[in-house]
Amino acid sequence: MDQTAGIRNIIDFNIKLLDILDYVGDSVRPIREGSAVYDAKHVVCIGYTNRSDQDISIKGYVTQSSHPGNMPHEICLKITNNVSGWVLRCSCKAGTGRCKHIVACLLHLNRSDQVEYLSCTDTRQAWGILKSKASAPWGAKRVSELCCIKTPTRLVPTDPNLKDEIVKQSFTRILEGMYKLTLSFPW
Ligand SMILES: [Zn+2]
Repeated sequence: MDQTAGIRNIIDFNIKLLDILDYVGDSVRPIREGSAVYDAKHVVCIGYTNRSDQDISIKGYVTQSSHPGNMPHEICLKITNNVSGWVLRCSCKAGTGRCKHIVACLLHLNRSDQVEYLSCTDTRQAWGILKSKASAPWGAKRVSELCCIKTPTRLVPTDPNLKDEIVKQSFTRILEGMYKLTLSFPW
């Protein structure tokens, strides 16, 4: 049944855990790894793009755990009433149809009762949000950009002649310090 929330189109949809287990088969590894991806909240965007009486097409985006700032993996799920008709694909290198990203999306659909319509604009926006989020906690930063680092105040003499005098005085102080140090340790 369709429910309209503002301009959003949300439908009731859920995947049974038993269906996920049937799809994955005997191997526990995809479930374990997919569960970790789901728990880490790496499923950043998921929704349906098309549906008919026979099936529903779902698109999901999952953060690349090793490169969170890069374009996330794109997951395309074609879910039918019978698990044997499922066609699930992921853009990651594994490309097995049973990778952890696909399982994470399936687990997301198992733990929620509704799924939202996902337009092309939504996916582009999701990627934009992800990119800004990813670069904040994960991306490389200069030390000077960290909030705990105070930027030292740079002294700029108003008189350019004074600059030479300051350098001279500073140099003299360093030399005096070295001389005193030599006297303290005469060896
Ligand atoms: Zn994958």
